[in-house]
Amino acid sequence: MRYISTRGGAPPVSFLDAVLAGMAPDGGLYVPETWPELGLSPRKVVFTHYGNVAKHTLRAFAGDDLSEDDTIELVNEAYIEAPADPHDASWRAKWPEPVTPLRQVRVGDWLLELFHGPSLSFKDVAMQLIGPLYDLALTKRDTRLSVVCATSGDTGGAAVEALKGRERIDLFVLTPKGRVSEVQRRFMTTSGAANVRVLEVDGDFDACQAIVKAMFADADFATRAQLSGVNSINWARIVAQSVYFQIAAHTYGGLGPVDFVVPTGNFGDAYSGWVAKQLGAPIGKIMLATNENDILARALNTGRYERGASKATLSPAMDIQVASNFERILFEALERDGEGVARLYAQLAQSGGFDIPPAALERLRADFAAAPVDDAETLQTMAWSAQDDAPVCPHTAVGYAARSKVVDALSQNAVVFLATAHPAKFPETVERATGAAPPLPAKCSDLFQRTEQFDSVAADADAVKQYIRERSRAWS
Ligand SMILES: *Cc1c(COP(=O)(O)O)cnc(C)c1O
Repeated sequence: MRYISTRGGAPPVSFLDAVLAGMAPDGGLYVPETWPELGLSPRKVVFTHYGNVAKHTLRAFAGDDLSEDDTIELVNEAYIEAPADPHDASWRAKWPEPVTPLRQVRVGDWLLELFHGPSLSFKDVAMQLIGPLYDLALTKRDTRLSVVCATSGDTGGAAVEALKGRERIDLFVLTPKGRVSEVQRRFMTTSGAANVRVLEVDGDFDACQAIVKAMFADADFATRAQLSGVNSINWARIVAQSVYFQIAAHTYGGLGPVDFVVPTGNFGDAYSGWVAKQLGAPIGKIMLATNENDILARALNTGRYERGASKATLSPAMDIQVASNFERILFEALERDGEGVARLYAQLAQSGGFDIPPAALERLRADFAAAPVDDAETLQTMAWSAQDDAPVCPHTAVGYAARSKVVDALSQNAVVFLATAHPAKFPETVERATGAAPPLPAKCSDLFQRTEQFDSVAADADAVKQYIRERSRAWS
């Protein structure tokens, strides 16, 4: 299986190269040259273990880069078995069975709980696979990496849980000072692992992301530090996330297609749903639920993709103004015209926006619908939904509220709502909406007793580079 750039100006690469590189050298994102066959019947998708579907999916996308045995080992470590050290008690509570439970909440409405991993957000599902996948790739190549990650909260905790203690990796997490919840911060700062460094940056999330981009743009630094990223454009994350869409969709496949409601920021999770559809999963519409950072809802509803000012909301993991993975679906909507994508993104860089060509917009609207939700609607939705069910996190509530806004656009299909974080990750907001703060699950109930460890830096790329240069074991 080979991977090509969405901007058409870079040579094709293998699966592992696409995963480790992150971005293509022409500035585009990697996508598979063709959509593979899964090699698993719909019945098997529903009735075999989560790990079996993950294994088939990974095999289909990795091609010759991973052997059957490699894939089994990776998936076992991510979702099934304990790590080698039997004294490591943390694994036992890593996932309940099944990994992503589907629970009926109302007639025709289902909640797909994606928050049962170690750091309580859906980011764990993919990141738990990325950890062993990176280890395997680095062992094969006998090399080390400095992994950097800018986070608005959940990616950081998931990356720490997945990469802590890994011999060939040093992880550097950049997080905006004072902009993440205390629970989110503690999942990053309390690992105690020597290969994990958390940098509290005196700036906002955009400042963190700008520093990461500046480090990758410095070719000499990036090469010497063996820099790699685990942000949401990472292809392995997309592949891993397509697994729960497939299982949930096939569960109702006999009854017709299923619609999904996806709380959306960087468009990684929603795009994974579209990938599942390419693999044959019976999926109708994928509904993009955004908060007031509504670039995707505006793009789909007006045809203009235009950057706005970023706004802090009650669903912080979706406070994103440029949805990185949108480039991948635009490439498909333009019938894989890489030059066309490059032209539109040049316009975005120059003037802050572009018009989606009408034929492409029509194709996007065949697969997606979208609606924005504000903070007041989020709180109201959290309050009413908690009256007859367990409370949901603010991101999940954005999904509930968005669905009610576009009910006409959707069919009578069964609807699966993605629950992207555990409510206990956002106790202040849940308490404000429902009057009660949800307790942390037993596996992490000691989170507030653990010792925190982090360093503070100015929002300055040179300061962060020096920090990494002095500490990365990959530096050469
Ligand atoms: C990251 C995140 C999202 C948004 O996912 P994208 O893949 O960036 O669209 C939604 N909810 C939660 C809780 C998240 O952590």
